[in-house]
Amino acid sequence: MLLKSINPSSGETIREYPEHQWEEIDQIIRNVKTAFKSWKTTTLTYRIERIKEVARLLEIKKEGLAFTISIEMGKPINESRAEIDKCIWVCHYYCDNIETFLQKRIITTEAQESYISFQPLGVVLAVMPWNFPFWQVFRFAVPAILAGNTAILKHASNVPGCAIAIEDLFNEADFPYDVFRTVLASNRKVERMIANKRVSATTLTGSTKAGQSVAETAGRYLKKCVLELGGSDPYLIFDDADLNHAVDACVKGRLINTGQSCIGAKRFIVTPGIYNDFENLFVEKMKAATIGDPFDEKNQLGPMARGNIREDILSQVNKSVSKGATLLCGGQLIDSPGYYFPATVLSNIQPEQPAYSQELFGPVASLIRATDEQDAIRIANDTTFGLGSAIFTSDIEKAKQIGEQELEAGCCFVNDFVRSDPRLPFGGIKESGYGRELSVFGLYEFINIKTIYVR
Ligand code: NDP
Repeated sequence: MLLKSINPSSGETIREYPEHQWEEIDQIIRNVKTAFKSWKTTTLTYRIERIKEVARLLEIKKEGLAFTISIEMGKPINESRAEIDKCIWVCHYYCDNIETFLQKRIITTEAQESYISFQPLGVVLAVMPWNFPFWQVFRFAVPAILAGNTAILKHASNVPGCAIAIEDLFNEADFPYDVFRTVLASNRKVERMIANKRVSATTLTGSTKAGQSVAETAGRYLKKCVLELGGSDPYLIFDDADLNHAVDACVKGRLINTGQSCIGAKRFIVTPGIYNDFENLFVEKMKAATIGDPFDEKNQLGPMARGNIREDILSQVNKSVSKGATLLCGGQLIDSPGYYFPATVLSNIQPEQPAYSQELFGPVASLIRATDEQDAIRIANDTTFGLGSAIFTSDIEKAKQIGEQELEAGCCFVNDFVRSDPRLPFGGIKESGYGRELSVFGLYEFINIKTIYVR
């Protein structure tokens, strides 16, 4: 089978890549396992040097890599550049902190000596999505490889160009050849790869359905597994919020990456005193979002990454409207080549509508009127997802209490939109998955936390 790289702003095929055959995949896994045996014995100083070299190459090649992202999945070019910058950041963050994170930890017991030693697990298989085709890979690979693991990337089928560009970067940075390898394969090959006895662990970022499938296989073969899945992040806007600031942050949080982000702002739950003003200003700013060629820097929105993703979002909007939602702007396909979908706002959202209960992976916002703050918290938690959340209010103490104790999510941002940061743990609960990425917690996911006890 061929993996097709399609330019989503025209629908034209850029290039076709043959999938790796089973013999090739088995050989790659064997090689990456062999590489692990020597990579884990290298010094931390050497590993840090190699990752710093990757960061240097990312900086030098930024323009070309950003182009590869935008041409393959349609991200506005400035956001693609910012994605490469974030990859550079995660390289430096872990290079600066890895020694401290991996330092053996003495624990006083009745023994002569007892301590915790942090050892790599082995070959980690990463099944990654197209929406942040560099960042999602780097945030898993940098800590895993610095810790002494080796890695195999099975990227999304629509971004083979990005997958190959990432493997090339590691090779150009003088990594031993099989420390990081890309396998060109569709999702049908993942189960057998996880089952391979040389693979120690797996991590998937993607839909809940894909996560369920990977978790099932990982469970069957007892492989360590991290899942970063979808979300339907609630943004709570209370009467005492700074309206202009809240609207700006909410629009930004909803439109980033043309709405195709797991931690995108999706449900805006607004208390009655501010609801009308919020709705008016929010719709005005969503209508003003410019859409078009992702290489034209003035555009905030590019095309959706694939035709079927646009069809899905259109169907969710239409079904919601047929069940009583009000379309305040957008919602109509744009008459031009490519998979464009405009910034869209729905109100009068009810539980039976997809806009209430499903993830909207596109530039579509659901506005929900709550009766009061308690009702807003109830609605926020009335979802199968639990990834991010945000609260807009001038009462910071109240927001912290609600964020910590009441919202069912992996994070809560107060007076800001949710975003990932190498210094902070990232991940979800409920059907948004389990495990954490980034920070020291992400590093420890692919580590054998080993107890040494000397009598
Ligand atoms: P998928 O979850 O299908 O794809 C993500 C990755 O998982 C890809 O590498 C894909 O491979 C792989 N995959 C898919 N199904 C399986 C499976 N059964 N077993 C193992 N691996 C699998 O996302 P889509 O691209 O189809 O997007 C669909 C929806 O997923 C979006 O609308 C959004 O809701 C959600 N999503 C969430 C993301 C996030 O950041 N949490 C990122 C992307 C999507 P292949 O490409 O070969 O199918």
